[in-house]
Amino acid sequence: MLETTLAGSLPRPVWLAEPETLKGEWKLEGQELEDGKRRAAREWIRHQEEAGIDILTDGEVFRQHFVHTFLEGIEGIDQDVKTLMGIRDNRYDLEVPTVTGKLSRPKPVHVEEFKYVRALTDRPLKFTLPGPMTICDTIADAHYGKRADMAMAFAELLNAEARELEAAGADIIQFDEPAFNVFFDDVNEWGIATLERALEGLKCTTAVHICYGYGIEENIRWKETLGDTWDQYEKIFPALNASKVQQISLECADSHVPHSVMGILKDKILMVGAVAVTQDKVETPEEVAQTIRSAMKYVDPERILPCTNCGMTPISYDIALGKLHSLAAGAAIVRAEL
Ligand code: ZN
Repeated sequence: MLETTLAGSLPRPVWLAEPETLKGEWKLEGQELEDGKRRAAREWIRHQEEAGIDILTDGEVFRQHFVHTFLEGIEGIDQDVKTLMGIRDNRYDLEVPTVTGKLSRPKPVHVEEFKYVRALTDRPLKFTLPGPMTICDTIADAHYGKRADMAMAFAELLNAEARELEAAGADIIQFDEPAFNVFFDDVNEWGIATLERALEGLKCTTAVHICYGYGIEENIRWKETLGDTWDQYEKIFPALNASKVQQISLECADSHVPHSVMGILKDKILMVGAVAVTQDKVETPEEVAQTIRSAMKYVDPERILPCTNCGMTPISYDIALGKLHSLAAGAAIVRAEL
């Protein structure tokens, strides 16, 4: 009960990549880089085990970016045709690659690295993939014409990838959909349908991660404009509760999300964000415990997985490590009270 897990990513160590930034450049190349990624994954698996995290991830240390690294394995995208695009409803601008033809996945993208990590631990292992809607909000389209159509094309490729990850031993496949917290009408019109296409036929546990973004400046500034009550989840949770996905995340630590919103997800397992992904502090175990106790006013502990709010790629290694320890220790405090 109250098994702990992560949204997904962990900081890549300073010897491997430029730290404390979202898309830090690799510092190694060739075989040294491949060996370095594996070493970083080994170290984070051991750190998670030692901290007492129950459901582990590879920390996404093999990837420079959670969307773009997947897209590099997809054909139909011209990486050299850059389009300036307003990301997450113009929260920030980025030059992104462009879809110029029919999408296809010539070979598995992440399966080899997953197999390596699978062999490192006996604990349950989750693998994260970008969700179809979030991909479409991170890449420009010069071929499909409608975002819903492009998202469905990506969903089919993601499903093929997910089935191979499942066959390689993934216990949980999670799709990351931060865009679900921005485009509410689209989520209800076609976002959930594309998510369900991506997880179609999977027998392993399925999850979706929805957040208010990484702890980067652009997101921190945006959060300041959201007021005292963050009601975004209310607009999508009813339809998500009716969907096929089994686990749903929400951001509860240091946020203005009313915890009562969890009451909507009556039929789901909830990944309750109990540590924030900003740099400024490491929560105490007691602070984590308080967040879990608050969630338990609305959800039975059998349906709660204490989790990080979001990915920890852009924060420092030691802060992230401290947060993992507090997350596990805080869950243990509440478990002892039950
Ligand atoms: Zn997130």
